Amino acid sequence: MSAKIIDGNAVADEIKSRVTADAAELANAGRKPHLTAVQVGENPASKIYTNMQAKACESVGIEYELLNLPAEISQDDLLGKIAELNASTETTGIILQMPLPAHMDARRVQVAISPAKDVEGMHPENMGRLFYGGGTVSPCTPMAAVELLKRTQPDLAGAETVIVGHSEIVGKPIAMILLQSPNASPTVTVCHVATKDLAAHTRRADVLIVAAGVSQARWSAYRRRKKAGEDVKTPDLSALISAEMIKPGAVVIDVAINRIPKGFDDNGDPVKNDKGKNAMQTVGDVDFEAVSQIASAITPVPGGVGPVTVAMLLSNTVACAKAIG
Ligand code: NAD
Repeated sequence: MSAKIIDGNAVADEIKSRVTADAAELANAGRKPHLTAVQVGENPASKIYTNMQAKACESVGIEYELLNLPAEISQDDLLGKIAELNASTETTGIILQMPLPAHMDARRVQVAISPAKDVEGMHPENMGRLFYGGGTVSPCTPMAAVELLKRTQPDLAGAETVIVGHSEIVGKPIAMILLQSPNASPTVTVCHVATKDLAAHTRRADVLIVAAGVSQARWSAYRRRKKAGEDVKTPDLSALISAEMIKPGAVVIDVAINRIPKGFDDNGDPVKNDKGKNAMQTVGDVDFEAVSQIASAITPVPGGVGPVTVAMLLSNTVACAKAIG
């Protein structure tokens, strides 16, 4: 079998078209969606992310503002800024860039964002609503994974569905979203690092959703230990999910994003690119080539869940602006 490749970019474009129409309607009614990103201190990774957010918002007609605060700001002052944004009539959505400086309690700051302006859907109140059947917004990546799944397999009633990963931001909310339908939910199993025989679970899955980030974690740990001067063995960066772990005909959604070396030389060092830097690749948790021969449908990495996650952020931003009125 050769699996259908689920095109995340095409789905993201469709969602963005709807968001563009909704944003224009709101703007015509004098209620332009306005997303304020709060960034504390400087961070190259966050800069890439905020640039991407700015571009994405611009492309659909959402106003984007970056509030850059100094790294030394106290937590109380940051909470004061968030309170101002919560009360602002201009800001309809707030996104907090992570990581925050070490002197801050990230959970405490995140919880201070008004649930009505929580475009990431991560506030405990919005998470709690997931439990009861969903509110205005839900977490972006879980929604993206489920959107791609439902477009591929609309009838999930009773389908054996295995989720690998049980984090608060991905695995657990995916399970909650899938269990929302009173009479037509899939049968959900959630696996994680302590699962005893992962393959026994994945092999019986009609639907497999993977969000573990294992090879990235191994590569990061290796680099950390090597930097500390330890004598470490070259890590095994092969995919967590091999073809032998797949039920023929399964639908496979790979949420993971692993940025890892393309390979290692005889000395155990990452192979270099033509600029003399480590040659890197972005891959998921699933052995894409091999699993494509067995699954009925599969998301690629990149180009699967990632672009739909961004589209969901825009969709949530418009949903918050609509609900605020
Ligand atoms: P996390 O580190 O918080 O959680 C990892 C999960 O994987 C945990 O539940 C852990 O128990 C499980 N796990 C680890 N090793 C395992 C193993 N050997 N077998 C089974 N389970 C194992 O990570 P996260 O924040 O949930 O992110 C997961 C992945 O999803 C990462 O690769 C991340 O980059 C990716 N991600 C993608 C998007 C997107 O937009 N596509 C967004 C967020 C996260």
